[in-house]
Amino acid sequence: MYKRFGSVLLLTNGILSRITVKHTCQQFTYLQVLQNCSKIQVGCRGFTSMMAPAKKLEEWSFSEPKLPSLPLDPESENFVRRNVPKSVFSLAAPTPFKTKPQLVAFSEDVLRNILDMDPEITKDEKFVDWVTGNKVLEGSVPLAHRYGGFQFGYWAEQLGDGRAHLLGEYINSRGERWELQLKGSGRTPYSRFGDGRAVLRSSVREFLCSEAMHYLGVPTSRAATLTVTDDPIPRDLFYNGNVKNERGAVVLRISPSWFRIGSFEILTKSREFEELKILADFILTNNFPHIQEKGEEGYLAMFAEVCEHTAHLIAKWQSIGWAHGVLNTDNMSLASVTIDYGPFGFVDAYDPNFTPNHSDDMGRYDLENQGNIGLWNMQKLGNALAPLINNSKHNQLVDVLKGYSEHYQDKYLELFRNKLGLDPKALNEDEISKDEELIVLLLQAMEVTKADFTQIFRDLSELGIDDLEGNKIPESAWGLTTCLKSTKIKDFLKSYTERIKELKVEDDKRMENMQATNPRYILRNWIAQEAIQRAEENDFTEVQFLLELLKNPYKVNKDAEAKGYASPPPNWANKLVLSCSS
Ligand code: AMP
Ligand code: MG
Repeated sequence: MYKRFGSVLLLTNGILSRITVKHTCQQFTYLQVLQNCSKIQVGCRGFTSMMAPAKKLEEWSFSEPKLPSLPLDPESENFVRRNVPKSVFSLAAPTPFKTKPQLVAFSEDVLRNILDMDPEITKDEKFVDWVTGNKVLEGSVPLAHRYGGFQFGYWAEQLGDGRAHLLGEYINSRGERWELQLKGSGRTPYSRFGDGRAVLRSSVREFLCSEAMHYLGVPTSRAATLTVTDDPIPRDLFYNGNVKNERGAVVLRISPSWFRIGSFEILTKSREFEELKILADFILTNNFPHIQEKGEEGYLAMFAEVCEHTAHLIAKWQSIGWAHGVLNTDNMSLASVTIDYGPFGFVDAYDPNFTPNHSDDMGRYDLENQGNIGLWNMQKLGNALAPLINNSKHNQLVDVLKGYSEHYQDKYLELFRNKLGLDPKALNEDEISKDEELIVLLLQAMEVTKADFTQIFRDLSELGIDDLEGNKIPESAWGLTTCLKSTKIKDFLKSYTERIKELKVEDDKRMENMQATNPRYILRNWIAQEAIQRAEENDFTEVQFLLELLKNPYKVNKDAEAKGYASPPPNWANKLVLSCSS
C-alpha cells in the first residue's frame, strides 16, 4: 500500500522509495505535499553560476530535495503526537497567518551571496508570503524533523520541530548546500503543548544575533529574513500567570544542516537502528562528503570531526564572552554551528558564572561551564552512534572523546593569544604556560573587579605599549579603568608588555591586529532590548541599524558611539532578565 504525493511514491513504512522531481528547464514536476496548501509557481533554477540573481520569486527554486528520502512518517495529517516511531521527518505545512505579514529586515549577504537572490526580490509580495509560511513554493516539501534530547541533563523523550518547517535544500552557485527553515510558522506533530509560533522579541534576537555571530567569525546558522504579523500570540513572559498578547514573527533561517545530536538520540533510544543507520549514512554523505570511509570507519571519522569542531565552536564562544543559555543535546548541531538562539547573552561585567537564562538556577549552562557541557554532549553523541559501531571498536569512541579537551584548550589558547595580539608563531611548552598564565591573570583581574569583558580587550587594542606599561589609562578606556582597582591588572600589564617586547611585536601592528579581532560593538542584551521595544511599536529602524552595525563590529561608527553602544551599559541593563518563553 502506498499513498501518492504528486510524482512521489510514499510507502506506508515511511520510506520514500522514488523521487522524480526534475529541475531542468525542459521538465519541471513538483511534489504536491498537502492538497490544501496554497502554492506559488516557480521557475526552474538549476545549479549554475551563469544565472543572474533572482529578482522575482518565480525566478528561484529549490534544488532537488534529498531530505524527504529519509524515513518519513506515513501519517500526513498534522496533529500532535507524543511518539512518531521510525521516522526522521513528518510532512507538515506551515500554518498561514490571519493578518498580512510585513517584512521588516533581511540579510542582504544571505540573500545575495548564499541564496543567489537580488535584494529586489524582497519587494515581491509573494516573497513575503513565502518567507512567512503563508505560501509554499512548488517543489518544496515542508518537513518537521523528529528529534529528542537531553534537557538540563535529563532525557526528555521526543521533542522535534514544534514550530519550525524545513522548506527545502538549496545548492547555490558556489556549490554550497544549505537547508532553509522557517521558525514560528505553525504547529507540527512535534508541537506538544506549544502553539507553533515565535514572538517578535525572540525572533528579533535570533535574527540579529545569528548575523552578528557570523561577522564575529563564529560558525552559525544564518538568518535571511524577519517578518512580523499582527496575529496575537499569547505568552506568559515569566510563567507567573500574567498572559499578554504579543506579535507573531517568523525568521527564515538557514544552516548547512539542521540535524542535531538529538536527531540520532531519538532513534537510538527507541532502538530504531535501521533508521539510525539510514540517517547516519545520509549525514555522512551529504554533510561530510570529504570523509572517504563508509560504515563504521565513516561514523567514527564523523564523530571525531563533530567533536573537534564543537570544541572549537565553544572555544570561540568563550573568546567573545557569549553564552548560549540552553545547551541541551537537541540544540547542538551536527554541523557544529551555533543554532537555536534563545536566552543567549554576551557577558558584560565579567563573571565566569554568568548565565543569561534565568531558568538555569544551577548554572549548568553558565559561561565557564560551556566547554565541559560540550564534552558531556559529545559523550551523548557517542552513545547515540554506538549501536552502529561494533563493540570491539567502542574504545575508539572513547579515544575520540579523550581528544576533546585538547582541541578545546588549543583553540582557546590560540584565540586568546590572538585577542592579545601575540605573535601566532609555534610555541614551546614554556611559552604556552607563560601565555596561559597571562590569560588567567587577566581573567582573574576582570572577575574580581567586574570589568567589562568586551571593553577590556578593546582598551588593550586601542592603547599603545608605553601607556599600558606605565599604567597611563585614560577615563575613556572604561574597561581597563574599572580593573585598575586590582593589583592583578598591574601584574598583568607588566607581564603583558614584557611578553610583547620579548616577541618583538611591532606596536602599531599589534594594535591594528587587535582592533580587527576584538569587537567594539556586540549585541549586548540592553542594546537588543532597545531595538525590541522600538520594534514592538512597529519601528524597525533600530533593528536595521544594528544589523548594519554588527556587520562590522570592529570599526568605530559615529552613530553607534552617539547611542552609547561602546559605553558602559546603563544601570537598567543589570536588571534585565531574559525569559525562556519565546
Ligand atoms: P527550544 O527551547 O526553542 O530549543 O525548544 C525546545 C523544544 O520545544 C523544541 O522541540 C521546540 O520545537 C519546542 N517548542 C518551543 N516553543 C514552542 C512553541 N511555541 N510551539 C511548539 N513547540 C515549541
Ligand atoms: Mg531548540
